[in-house]
Amino acid sequence: MAKYANLIPRFLDYVKVNTRSDPQSTTIPSTPRLTEFANRLVQDLTAIGLNNVHINPQSAYVYATLPANTAKAVTKIGFISHFDTADFNSENIRPQIVENYDGQSVIKLDAAGKYTLDPAVFPNLKNYRGDTLITTDGTTLLGADDKSGVAEIMAAAEYLLAHPEIKHGEIKIGLGPDEEIGTGADHFDVADFGADIAYTVDGGPLGQLEYETFNAADAQVEITGTNVHPAEAKGVMVNASQVAMDFHAGLPVHDRPENTEGREGFFHLYSMTGDVDSAHLSYIIRDHDRQIFEDRKRLFQGVADQLNQAFGQDRVQVTLKDQYYNMREVLEKDMHVVELAKQALEDLDIQPLIFPVRGGTDGSKISFMGLPTPNLFAGGENMHGRFEYVSEQTMEKATDVLIKIVALAEQQA
Ligand SMILES: [Zn+2]
Repeated sequence: MAKYANLIPRFLDYVKVNTRSDPQSTTIPSTPRLTEFANRLVQDLTAIGLNNVHINPQSAYVYATLPANTAKAVTKIGFISHFDTADFNSENIRPQIVENYDGQSVIKLDAAGKYTLDPAVFPNLKNYRGDTLITTDGTTLLGADDKSGVAEIMAAAEYLLAHPEIKHGEIKIGLGPDEEIGTGADHFDVADFGADIAYTVDGGPLGQLEYETFNAADAQVEITGTNVHPAEAKGVMVNASQVAMDFHAGLPVHDRPENTEGREGFFHLYSMTGDVDSAHLSYIIRDHDRQIFEDRKRLFQGVADQLNQAFGQDRVQVTLKDQYYNMREVLEKDMHVVELAKQALEDLDIQPLIFPVRGGTDGSKISFMGLPTPNLFAGGENMHGRFEYVSEQTMEKATDVLIKIVALAEQQA
């Protein structure tokens, strides 16, 4: 009998439900199917025996409380995951089970073998020798991102309720929508959630612990040209498309995603449209270092200023919007939340994998709302597409880690 009897069955039930979020939507949550799934979670969390289960009206998060079973004053720990899935086919998800994987075979996803999980392409497969893998059937994503996190948090809560000998403080659970469209955490209600520290359980492979993310801004460049007949253009025409290319050429050539890794930031041109009359460039700007991030934004504006100066009029208009910041700025003031997770991993003989994320997490925003929230592994691999898979054993270990964290916090109180 598995240690967490409901962990895998619940995960398999949940992934079969389409909870793809909708990037075009302006509602919270982004689609009615997320409200429907939230209602189901309310029922399931209540059935487990959790308290104060409710949908927070501001954020559409499902919040629940596991009461303390000790008189000690223990840090209130929150666990957060998201139940929406990425922008990929999510209709009729049929999870496949591969038992006792040998760590080297090619796994056929569909019957015809058009799509496969091949260790030559996905070398991480070699880490799963002897494990039971859950894969897709090649037509959809799996949704381990982040229903593995949802199932692990629920399994940990269930286990703690069944094992009162494990002492812990009050535990807060937050399961949210719309992480994949980047808006889920915007309305996170820290006061209603009520935790002192928290973890998103939304990372990848075994041992991942992330507390450093990019600083991020979106940058739009609007260019106004002057369109006249090319035959009579001399000294009159301002070709907006040409100005757009001049603008892009003003940015450092090396600082592009395809040239950078690790802690190197970049300017990423993700869309361009234009003709003679007008042109539009869309960028994202990223850097782990806040100072360099601010410098990057100044440089970006500076390129526009120079062009405008050369024209003697405003042809290039830049609109910069900060999206999120590196959570390290918040966490390094008190590394307790990171140290606690690191010790939990070490106590369970799991090698901590700590690297700066080249992206953001819900915790990047939530940390800046005053709730320090690093990211823990949930187990998924190859997220956001048909090659997504997760190991049952890794999901069990992720659940172990959550239980270990709350037990350690109680012992240290
Ligand atoms: Zn995720």
